[in-house]
Amino acid sequence: MPEGCGSMLLELYECMKREAAKLSACADRKLVLGEGNTNSPKLVFIGEAPGANEEQQGRPFVGTAGKNLDATLHALGCARNEIFITNLVKVRPVKQNPKTGRLSNRPPSKEEVTFFAPFLLRELELIRPKCVVTLGNFALCAITGDKHATIGEMHGKLAHVNGKFDLFPLYHPAAAIYNRKLREVMDQDILELRRVLEGL
Ligand code: URA
Repeated sequence: MPEGCGSMLLELYECMKREAAKLSACADRKLVLGEGNTNSPKLVFIGEAPGANEEQQGRPFVGTAGKNLDATLHALGCARNEIFITNLVKVRPVKQNPKTGRLSNRPPSKEEVTFFAPFLLRELELIRPKCVVTLGNFALCAITGDKHATIGEMHGKLAHVNGKFDLFPLYHPAAAIYNRKLREVMDQDILELRRVLEGL
């Protein structure tokens, strides 16, 4: 359970667990909940869905993408416990190789996104962050409620969502692992976010 979490957030997570157990894609999977500062933090980071490491440890962003996120936080001068980190989809989306039986990651399905998005919005209502940082396209579309929103157009700029909170979309940290050009764009975006953060 996330540190310092209000009872309403715990209740929300309990309700999500009960409902998720009824969904075939989630039934055998461990839920990876958000963690960090639940008391109106300056920033909430929202990823797509946990991967294998996150599922194993039961914590968001602890694998390779997590190392990249840690580097982003370092560049922003933020500690993990000052902000909140969560995912749109709270289970690891997997597919199974029919020959080997091995599991690998896949993008979240429409069903998973539709199930988890309302819980994410409620999570944000309870946590009341000053600014929401979406990581990648899935979280961006869920937060804006616009399935046509694209990270390519919206990254690195502050936007306002329904007068509720400020949104600062970033590329997903995993996107830059093999793409040096994108790494440079992300570095610029992080500098801009640092400027935004100074004014919060
Ligand atoms: N990628 C995500 O979007 N979330 C995680 O928790 C890990 C990797």
